[in-house]
Amino acid sequence: GGDRLYLGMDFGTSGARFAIIDRQGTIHGEGKREYPPYKREEAMDWARSWKATLFSLLEDVPLHLRELIVSISIDGTSATTLIVDSTTGEPIRRPLLYNESCFDALPVVKSIAPENHTVCSGSSTLCKLVSWWNQEDSGKKSAILLHQADWLLWLLHGKLGVSDYNNALKVGYDPELDSYPSWLLSQPYSQLLPSVKAPGTSIGHLKEDIGSQYGFPKDCVVCTGTTDSIAAFVAARATQPGKAVTSLGSTLAIKLLSTTRIEDARFGVYSHRLDDKWLVGGASNTGGAVLRQIFTDEQLEELSEKINPMEASPLYYYPLQTVGERFPVADPNMAPRLQPRPESDVDYLHGILESIARIEAQGYNLLKQLGATKVEEVFTAGGGSKNEKWTKIRERVLGLPVSRAIKTEAAYGAALLALRGAQQITNLS
Ligand code: ADP
Repeated sequence: GGDRLYLGMDFGTSGARFAIIDRQGTIHGEGKREYPPYKREEAMDWARSWKATLFSLLEDVPLHLRELIVSISIDGTSATTLIVDSTTGEPIRRPLLYNESCFDALPVVKSIAPENHTVCSGSSTLCKLVSWWNQEDSGKKSAILLHQADWLLWLLHGKLGVSDYNNALKVGYDPELDSYPSWLLSQPYSQLLPSVKAPGTSIGHLKEDIGSQYGFPKDCVVCTGTTDSIAAFVAARATQPGKAVTSLGSTLAIKLLSTTRIEDARFGVYSHRLDDKWLVGGASNTGGAVLRQIFTDEQLEELSEKINPMEASPLYYYPLQTVGERFPVADPNMAPRLQPRPESDVDYLHGILESIARIEAQGYNLLKQLGATKVEEVFTAGGGSKNEKWTKIRERVLGLPVSRAIKTEAAYGAALLALRGAQQITNLS
């Protein structure tokens, strides 16, 4: 019917959000919660905090909408890893967060994985798994590895050991083969790996007790999710190859939909699968954080007003917060370059914005050189997307149409995955 609704939840770095949409993508409800601080011994009890937030969000869903929600999906931070008991589903050690590294496991991982594989980074899910496996003596036989989104979805559907191929990329899943590679399956800890489905695939019905307690329909399904940054890309609905999203937040990240898969560990470039296409990405250390070191947000607006975006700035900077760059130039020793500073702050800002635009263009050029589909149109997300002068500068420097993405919230992307999962069921029956 026309009044079915789809619920997406995004578990980000500082809090969680939900979005409720209909089949056309119109938003019917939104909300957010900060994570409550639960301490256990010295460390944050993240699992308890996320679980409490999940059920707070369900309570925040307006009562009159709950009975219309037929499908739910969740995205979480990439490489946030839980090791849980295979009978109870309870974490048997504290979760390891997306930004935590297990360098102790890196030599072992490098010795089993192909050279420059995505898992060959201290913060990869596989390094987290191997580090735990090598330190632990007990509980190994009855453990399962889950990502943050998988575990939260499990709380809703109750089938232990299911993930999606976006979350599973950093544990070593091969989305092209659609299986774990043999070098991984031959390891003793491969028994811990979850089964993998496409993002937005129905796993099962919402648990009956949760459904009746909160007032969701009996046939409400729970669908596999994705990572937070992919959910944000999905939200922008850039569904054709050549469409890209540049995120101008504290840092600059670009994501391009490509018909070809590319990987290059030197630049931190890798591809996520999105159905029959590849989401190719790279992240630079340049971005808005440098702007904030120099100007307030108010100054940024005032000075930007006075910039003539049709004029090319002669200032060539490389704005960085600290030493080191990876993409589009792999140079751990690259120094920030913000000199010479002209007398006029308008000229200075113009030079910085134009320099960041050149780095963005260089990024898209690098992806093309590495074999990705040529970029045709760029949508923009993040704090920098509201700067219309910058958008004009970028259009000139990139030589492409650039506009602000209409939707960029990861929760909205997760809701689109819930919709996808529900539609697949309808198509099958
Ligand atoms: P985060 O990556 O921290 O989530 P946001 O997407 O919230 O970042 O964007 C914040 C960034 O946007 C800041 O670093 C700030 O410098 C930048 N910013 C804010 N206002 C403007 C503006 N008018 N023009 C360009 N950049 C801006």
